[in-house]
Amino acid sequence: MDMGISGKKALVCASSKGLGRGCAAALAAEGVNVVLNARGADALEATASELRGLGVDVTTVACDITTEDGQAQVLEAAGQVDILVNNAGGPPPGMWHDWDRSDFIAALDANMLTPIALMKAVLPGMMDRGWGRVVNITSQSVKAPIPVLGLSNAARTGLTGYVAGTARQVAEKGVTINNLLPGIHATDRAVALDTGVVNAQGISMEDAQAQRQATIPARRYGTAEEFGAACAFLCSQHAGFIVGQNILLDGGGTNATI
Ligand code: NAP
Repeated sequence: MDMGISGKKALVCASSKGLGRGCAAALAAEGVNVVLNARGADALEATASELRGLGVDVTTVACDITTEDGQAQVLEAAGQVDILVNNAGGPPPGMWHDWDRSDFIAALDANMLTPIALMKAVLPGMMDRGWGRVVNITSQSVKAPIPVLGLSNAARTGLTGYVAGTARQVAEKGVTINNLLPGIHATDRAVALDTGVVNAQGISMEDAQAQRQATIPARRYGTAEEFGAACAFLCSQHAGFIVGQNILLDGGGTNATI
């Protein structure tokens, strides 16, 4: 299927690795020029040179997207943005009594206020031009809480509420905003969370992974490639009637009828 977005420009935040990279690669494969971002320059440049091999323009901005300065840098480098994929690292696991105000502020900055700031920056241009796509990478934790990820549960649910209202205010201008909710995917983040299980339960990495896989009806972790393909579809010409939705990619892990 031709996604109909060749020649558009996408800003994909936090995209040197993992799910952000999967989204950038899928968009680049559709002929979308991409602006990539991450803090570490080495992985960022490695990903950029791979995506340039697909024949698209690739711009890199090595900075922390959760800072105002980082956001200003990516927006300056990107210029006119047709597609925005919001992403950043996830908060650390812990217990409800571990976190103080500064932990919540950091989580809110990364996983709620940064995507909101970037949407505020690019939505006016998208609306003026009558076309735009925003995809926010959130988490299955907004549908069903993950107790050890209380910071993520809280911050991402705040973003979800903002998107629910805002998506319905911009849709008449041809701009869609949707959220993609990853369940467990085989990325560095999954390794970090598996390591948490290893440490908490004193079991091997293999057992920790087997334990988490057993909670997924598909009995495997998702891949960044299939996540990216879903993102590219949401950014496509075919997805203009999908507005303000929260789409789970979790192998059936969230046990809910709707
Ligand atoms: P990942 O494999 O650890 O990759 C994270 C990417 O984001 C890297 O490119 C990293 O590069 C970049 N990054 C992290 N913090 C950044 C920052 N402050 N500014 C700019 N770039 C930053 O993570 P992932 O698995 O793709 O996860 C992506 C998001 O989905 C996270 O918020 C995660 O919590 C959420 N999620 C993941 C899963 C899963 O199973 N993988 C499940 C649910 C939710 P640098 O470190 O060089 O900056």
